[in-house]
Amino acid sequence: MDILDNRGLLYPFLENGVKMKQLCIHQDVHDPNNAFKAELSNMNSNFSFALMNRQNKTVDYLIDALHEKKSMRKKHVPNVEFCMELIKYEEKDDHVFAVVKNTKNNVEEEIICQYLVGCDGVHSTVRKRINGWTFEGQTLKSSWALADVEIDHELVKYDQITSFVLNEGLIVIFPLGARKNTFRFVAKIGDEEKKNETNDHVTHGLTNETHMTLEELQKLVDERIAPIKLELKNPVWISNFKINERIVNRYRTGRVFIAGDAAHCHSPLGGQGMNLGIQDAHNLAFKLALVIRNQAVDVNKLLDSYEHERYPVGKNIIEGTGYLTKMMSGNDYFTSFLRTCVAPILFQFFPQSVFNFQNNLMQNNLHYLPGSSEILHKYKPRSSAENKLIEAGHYVQDGLLMKITSHKSHERITMLDIFRSTALKHTLVLFTLNKGVTADCNPLIETLLEIYNDYKNTITPIIISYQGIVHAADVPFMPFQEEGREQHIFVERKFELHEKYGVMKEFGKQAFVLVRPDLYVASAVFEDDVDELKAFLDQYLTKADR
Ligand SMILES: Cc1cc2nc3c(=O)[nH]c(=O)nc-3n(C[C@H](O)[C@H](O)[C@H](O)COP(=O)(O)OP(=O)(O)OC[C@H]3O[C@@H](n4cnc5c(N)ncnc54)[C@H](O)[C@@H]3O)c2cc1C
Repeated sequence: MDILDNRGLLYPFLENGVKMKQLCIHQDVHDPNNAFKAELSNMNSNFSFALMNRQNKTVDYLIDALHEKKSMRKKHVPNVEFCMELIKYEEKDDHVFAVVKNTKNNVEEEIICQYLVGCDGVHSTVRKRINGWTFEGQTLKSSWALADVEIDHELVKYDQITSFVLNEGLIVIFPLGARKNTFRFVAKIGDEEKKNETNDHVTHGLTNETHMTLEELQKLVDERIAPIKLELKNPVWISNFKINERIVNRYRTGRVFIAGDAAHCHSPLGGQGMNLGIQDAHNLAFKLALVIRNQAVDVNKLLDSYEHERYPVGKNIIEGTGYLTKMMSGNDYFTSFLRTCVAPILFQFFPQSVFNFQNNLMQNNLHYLPGSSEILHKYKPRSSAENKLIEAGHYVQDGLLMKITSHKSHERITMLDIFRSTALKHTLVLFTLNKGVTADCNPLIETLLEIYNDYKNTITPIIISYQGIVHAADVPFMPFQEEGREQHIFVERKFELHEKYGVMKEFGKQAFVLVRPDLYVASAVFEDDVDELKAFLDQYLTKADR
């Protein structure tokens, strides 16, 4: 949601999706009123719910947004051609040569492009056509049933995920949102050994088996959760599957990349696959854009950072969802003991553990490690007391600001609103404490202007002041204020945002924070180390012609 919001794409998803506020876990079918309920509102996020949208709708909303851009005559808006299949490709020194076939009339077309990104799912042709690109992992032993059905029962609510975590086998029911009684039903049905373990049988991270009938599924539910009577009706489809946990050995080979399910697949429990893929794309897109516009100092370093940053995240999600699946569905004595005896006590007496669990599940706790990514600034403040400063690789923090609109009025705006408006560039934020926003009283304003002049094409500067209030008349005209006099200067009233970024009053030091277009911090330095920021930028972005 954060990413879609950042790109101005979230509205139709919010408007049409189901907002799930609760995760309800039943462990005792004889006492259904005593279920454990985890509130999804208590999360480290601007969104106090998990959002469920149908996958075909997800595609429609994104295509609609492209068409809207096209109708606004924006340049470089591509068409999405659904009937084109990539047949083969070859990487050359300075381009990629690809052949696609129109599956309606079998006419082939050649494409010459600078880079190729395979977002072509678990069977990725892009991945398979490069020798040495592997998709390592395992097929889990458990078998599962999946069905989109109608359910009318007071325990199964349309704004919650309902689960029955039982030794006899897990059942999870997700609202689908088309109507209030339509749900996606998932149940573990067995634990057989898998015979064929090649990845050719993987479908969407799942391996297809023979399908169950509605009657078989109903029998399973009746036996498993009796005396609760849950009737499954009018299935749209029913399928059986096995879970695959796989990840590629690399995300980039020369001019070719892979993203999404082409790079990783895992248990659908936890609903993370599409989220992971969208994040891959968000990470790679701004890097490719910098390279294509000749704005990257070291092309290879920048493009390699895609793998360095995203591979560990993919690996963690595979491990995390694997662990969650085992915890929720394993029926050995130890897992069952952990689930029925340890977890409830942990969750009841250590609310922080529920908070961490939910945030991990929603991928709200992701950071990239400066040690593993060469495009993150490895900065150490001069004293350990100043270590609170936000670190490169951390996700941005949000908070409320005031935008000066006239001599008399200020408008409320959030930090994420600001990042949305600067989304195509990096944002360099100067946290001024209360040192003022004129070059006379604050020498760092001059530094900010200097950096802006060097990196006009890639960096948008903004100033966040803490003065209680700044009057429009006191705000100097900044050369970077192309569209309006005040729009790059914001005021914080409560000091919370400064604190979230680690710019503490007691240190009395102003700080620069450079935020990447994908909303991760690239660099953060205190004022006395601004030369370090400049040196970092020297190695990162090309300077604009003055
Ligand atoms: C039952 C189930 C429930 C899930 N629930 C969730 C959830 O709640 N939340 C979540 O985040 N994720 C969920 N996922 C995972 C999610 O569906 C996938 O992670 C996501 O669809 C991956 O997107 P993708 O674009 O990488 O791949 P895909 O969605 O597989 O898209 C790949 C596309 O590439 C096309 N293609 C393939 N080969 C070629 C070729 N040679 N030439 C041209 N095009 C090609 C395909 O036709 C397809 O359109 C779930 C998955 C399953 C199976």
